[in-house]
Amino acid sequence: MKILILGGTGEAIDLANGLHERSHQVITSLAGRTRHPHKPKGRMRTGGFGGVEGLADYLTREKIDYLVDATHPFAEEMSAHAVAASAEMQVPLLRLERPPFVEPDLAQWWRVDSVEAAAERLPHGATVLLTIGRQQLQPFVARGHARFIVRSIEPVEMDLPRNFEQITARPPFSREDELSLMKRRGVTHMVVKDAGGEQTSAKLEAAFMLKVQVVMIARPPLPEAETVNSVGDALAHFDQFPASKRFFFLP
Ligand code: NAP
Repeated sequence: MKILILGGTGEAIDLANGLHERSHQVITSLAGRTRHPHKPKGRMRTGGFGGVEGLADYLTREKIDYLVDATHPFAEEMSAHAVAASAEMQVPLLRLERPPFVEPDLAQWWRVDSVEAAAERLPHGATVLLTIGRQQLQPFVARGHARFIVRSIEPVEMDLPRNFEQITARPPFSREDELSLMKRRGVTHMVVKDAGGEQTSAKLEAAFMLKVQVVMIARPPLPEAETVNSVGDALAHFDQFPASKRFFFLP
């Protein structure tokens, strides 16, 4: 089969590698936000498609048999486009979506629906670790009464006020690293997107141990699609289909 994977996550890479090993033709698509992304096996393409129509054209032009949405749970627009283009072109869609983070008993996370709501909950004098990437920092810039540590894979492009400090680092992070970062900086609050996954869950364990208040931003609602929650389940889904034909020439 020829499979287009909408990527930007570790799971997308693992799935591309697994499908490639099973002799499917795989194209992984990236938005192009990260300068040095990890590279999956198979083909790669980079950059937006140009909305639903652009994606629909691409599915036809490349004769894609199956579309997989393995984007980050907060990549709301791309996931909506995948559903619409799949319906329009009658190309089946599978969404690979990791389960949300699990709140430990007694943790008492503050749950909010948006980045704006997270910014509003932060009290005066807080020292806040922001682990929400670098694209949605604006609501925090207005909160001059708190100190912020922004951690992102790529450097922040906007000018940040003096109460902001920037750290660039790429997951996975160990619990020891997270404990040491939070202790060193005297972190009192941490803002987290409910992305789920093991690569970034150590920060929640560290926060629990140090009694750092977690402000958990809920996932955006997505249009319905057939969904699996792990790379193993996605591979099992494709195991029911034959891989691309191979020709054997007998002497
Ligand atoms: P988004 O808001 O849902 O998408 C905005 C636009 O970016 C889409 O309409 C599409 O442009 C393009 N795009 C997004 N993902 C793409 C992909 N895999 N291949 C080609 N084009 C893509 O997405 P986002 O939240 O900015 O995330 C961008 C990428 O970073 C995604 O691949 C996502 O998996 C990854 N990521 C996001 C987050 C997060 O917190 N949002 C965190 C980690 C990784 P067109 O309309 O022109 O097609």
